[in-house]
Amino acid sequence: MEQLKQCSKCLQNKPIDEFYRSRRLRWKRRGECKNCENTRHDLYYRERKKAIHYKAYLRQGLYRRKAIKYLGSKCNWCGFKKYRALVIDHVNDDGAKELAVKGNNKWRIWKTILAGNIEKRYQILCANCNMIKHWKYRRNVDRKEGKEGYSESI
Ligand SMILES: [Zn+2]
Ligand SMILES: [Zn+2]
Repeated sequence: MEQLKQCSKCLQNKPIDEFYRSRRLRWKRRGECKNCENTRHDLYYRERKKAIHYKAYLRQGLYRRKAIKYLGSKCNWCGFKKYRALVIDHVNDDGAKELAVKGNNKWRIWKTILAGNIEKRYQILCANCNMIKHWKYRRNVDRKEGKEGYSESI
């Protein structure tokens, strides 16, 4: 006859093989069934992962703030000061993709800035000025390529 044991968590009677062996006492089985233990572990790791992501997120915010402070905390073109609308801009960008400071790039750029030695490569712009700069840049490219650019009409 199959030996049954009641799980201390879900209170179901399950075959003894549905329980992990105790780590210290090999002949003993643990109180919770495998299913309940696994669920508990999954939850634990999911929560932990969230906490780690959240920490990274906070750290990112801190780096961004420091980098912006380092560069003067205001838009270099119009003087706008509200931190949330400020972006870090490459002064001499040579491509539209350089304008968008995205993904892993962010870390690299913040670190470079905070390490000093940036020789006016970066500046702070507000979202508006950044957008205007972007359109100016597009227009120049269109002109250079002899296109009647979409950007011309904006
Ligand atoms: Zn259970
Ligand atoms: Zn501005």
